[in-house]
This record gives sequence, structure tokens and C-alpha cells, in this order.
Amino acid sequence: MRKPKIGIAANILIMDKGPEVLFGLYRAYVNNDYVESLEKNGCVPVLLPALHNTDDARAQLEGLDGLLLSGGYDIDPMLYGEPPRKEIGFTMNEVDLHYIALIKAADEIGLPIFGICKGMQMLNVAFGGSVYQDIHSQKPDSYQHTQNAPRYSPTHTVKVEEGSFLSGVLGNKVMVNSFHHQAVKDIAEGFRVTAASEDGVVEAIERTDGSFALGVQWHPEMMAKFDNEDMARLFQAFARICEEA
Ligand code: MN
Repeated sequence: MRKPKIGIAANILIMDKGPEVLFGLYRAYVNNDYVESLEKNGCVPVLLPALHNTDDARAQLEGLDGLLLSGGYDIDPMLYGEPPRKEIGFTMNEVDLHYIALIKAADEIGLPIFGICKGMQMLNVAFGGSVYQDIHSQKPDSYQHTQNAPRYSPTHTVKVEEGSFLSGVLGNKVMVNSFHHQAVKDIAEGFRVTAASEDGVVEAIERTDGSFALGVQWHPEMMAKFDNEDMARLFQAFARICEEA
């Protein structure tokens, strides 16, 4: 059987290290953990660079079986109607607009979507939801979500909603890593929260109507790359969904 071909929404990396001649260059990129985790778990990954002409997002998805939204910079708060709080980090509006164009195009053609970290938050924003611009100042009782441990190490648990797609793959409780200072605030219509950490931070969302869409706040690709069995199973489950769609 043909392996599912998965498009990964790429970021723009602004060069600020290395030889001076490269400073300020924009590079289309994704962390290779996404590529390796998809490849290890039965998929053929393809990179989708941010385009100026977002009308071409539909053409970018032609011939693909699924869309993976990778993590990245903070989300431009104008996209959910808020002024920037002073704690917000670096944002890049053109990358966000490309994500939204890809999400809308994937939705039109019924392509399964898997959003990771900022990818999950963009999924929520694209369908009308919002995010906390900075968890620590807006939810002061939350625990540390930007871990100092290695990227493959789980540092907090999440409780998974019974009956959800995620619980079918991971069970009712799972250990995850954490590299985010933003989080889903108001959930978009047509989605539900299917996992949260014990401090009440949303850690996964799933679409309840329309085509398949799953978002997780942690970085399963950083764990699956190092053969974490739970997260390998998550990529395999997404691969199966893409095969069947
Ligand atoms: Mn977290």
C-alpha cells in the first residue's frame, strides 16, 4: 500500500547566527524532528513553505493525504481580535496567514489535520477561537510549561477525555513534554477540549464536526524521534486516518 504523504506547514527562520553574510536572511524551515517522526511511523513528509500568495495554498495540498501544522512563533493577536500584551513574544503575521490558508484549504477538501503546539493554537484561531498570549501572567497558578529538561523528556501529565480520539490512542492519562508560553483560551466552535493538564491548561483539542482535526499542545515529534512508544502510536494513528480519508 502507498504510504500517506503528509504536508508539513513550514516556518520562516530569520538568520541571526553564523557567518555575518547570512544575517537577516529568511529561511523556509521545520525542525527535523517532524520529518523524522513522520518518516519513522509510515509517512512520506513534504515541506510546505509560507507563500505570499495564500490563494495557492490549495494547490500546495494537491496530491497530499494529510496536513501537519508545526510549532513556531507566537500568534499575531490581531488574528483573534486582541491588542498585544506586553509579555507577547516574536510574531510573524505572514506565517500565520499561510497557516490559516492551509487550514481552510484542507478543510475544503476534507484533508485530515494534525496541529502541534502553535499548530494546535492556529487550528483554534482559524476556526474562531483565541489563545492566552502569555500563560504565566494570565494564569499565574499554572505550572511550568516551558521546560528546562531535554526535549524528549516528559515533564507533566495530561488527563485525556474519555471517548475521544486521543484516549483511544493514549489512554486516559499520559506524560508529555512542554515548550509553550501560550495556550488555547476560548475554544473554537465545532471543537472540544480532549486533554488538559491538572492546572487547567488546554493540552489537546479535537474537531467534533466536519473532517478530522486534532491538535496537541506538547511536542510528540520530539518524543517519537527518540522512540517514545505513546507518541509513535500517535503518529501511526494519524497515518491511518490519512490513509482512510
Ligand atoms: Mn504543557
